[in-house]
Amino acid sequence: MLKITDGQCGMCAHFGEDDKAATDKLVQIRISGQAPADLVEPCGLPENRQKNLKVTPVSGCTGFTPARKSA
Ligand code: SF4
Repeated sequence: MLKITDGQCGMCAHFGEDDKAATDKLVQIRISGQAPADLVEPCGLPENRQKNLKVTPVSGCTGFTPARKSA
């Protein structure tokens, strides 16, 4: 498991933003602060989405937007 801190993708509203099937899983990751080491999700920030950027929970960028911790 990876430990996630504020400011990293796993805590960002854009992490897996368009992956509706993963919403519950991503909320649990934000609450627990831990994510599977092999998790990769698309970034939904418009400029990153255009490039089809995929990130891990411990990646990050200046577009970080704090996510809600409920579904
Ligand atoms: S790459 Fe940036 S905008 Fe995308 S999920 Fe990570 S912190 Fe958020």
